[in-house]
Amino acid sequence: MIIVLNHATTEQIDSILLNISRSGLEPYYVDYFGKKMITAVGNSRACNADAYRSLPGVEAVIPISTKFKLVSREFKQEKSVVQVRDVEFGSMDKPVIAGPCAIEGYELFKEAAVAVKKAGAVMLRGGAYKPRTSPYSFQGLEEEGLSILLAVGKELDIPTVSEVTDPRNIELISQHVDMLQIGARNMQNFVLLKEVAKSSMPVLLKRGASATIEEWLMAAEYIVAGGNPNVVLCERGIRTFENYTRNTLDLSAVPVVQHLSHLPIIIDPSHGTGHWRFVTPMALAAMGAGADGLMVEVHTCPAEAVSDGPQSLTPARFQKLMQGLAAVNRAIM
Ligand code: PEP
Ligand code: MN
Repeated sequence: MIIVLNHATTEQIDSILLNISRSGLEPYYVDYFGKKMITAVGNSRACNADAYRSLPGVEAVIPISTKFKLVSREFKQEKSVVQVRDVEFGSMDKPVIAGPCAIEGYELFKEAAVAVKKAGAVMLRGGAYKPRTSPYSFQGLEEEGLSILLAVGKELDIPTVSEVTDPRNIELISQHVDMLQIGARNMQNFVLLKEVAKSSMPVLLKRGASATIEEWLMAAEYIVAGGNPNVVLCERGIRTFENYTRNTLDLSAVPVVQHLSHLPIIIDPSHGTGHWRFVTPMALAAMGAGADGLMVEVHTCPAEAVSDGPQSLTPARFQKLMQGLAAVNRAIM
């Protein structure tokens, strides 16, 4: 259950917290868009929601049946729109984020950025801190990569997103980008989740390769309950017995998440399939399934990319994807 407070005094809040604890539930005091609330977690049958409705300082009591509270549809029926400068996730806009897996240098990155913007991408991606399976693989240009991202984003006047892998870098990355990405490998890095929760930056939270939808939404709950409501979910494929594709892109996550949560959900068909050939069909299918946007890896010369070349589209292929997308969007509007 969630208790929404209205000008509650400290004494009133303390008394509600005590009552919740006494009924066997765990109370958490949270701030959602500046609105003070208390989430009570545990067996909700143990407490009488009506008893709280009439208490002074209480505006509303919302019973929630799922483990995740603030990100649930039961808490908020209308879809959330997450704004990244003028880009909206969760509205009718269906933004496309594109760019190379990693930032490899100014010239290459600018070339890719110009191409994806021209084709209709409204946000630019590029990794500066790369979480790689092998310690011997390219780890990203780090600060130099961030400076390139900032410069190119400014030159093209396009918002940017980049991955944060370490809580110690949140501040630095936030000074260079418009949105923080939490990658699949870090979806349950609770230290990182709690730290981005304290930031006011929008967060793109990727699904862990072995995470259930509930675990993913619980990860989002960490960020929202910690004070940052600006979370966009990104399905990027899960690990299954199928190994022809790099991951199995779980498109059913789109309607499932939209049923369970008010948060926007976008699809990454690049990591979801691992092969450029399958990226466009899955991108179109994602929009057909009702996704709120896409994230696609694009490289001007995929054969020479330092990471994820096989799944990267050339600018020409990306342009075709965008044309197909426009047709699908017209058909489903
Ligand atoms: C990426 O977006 O480049 C990336 C590393 O993605 P994921 O965390 O989904 O593997
Ligand atoms: Mn990648």
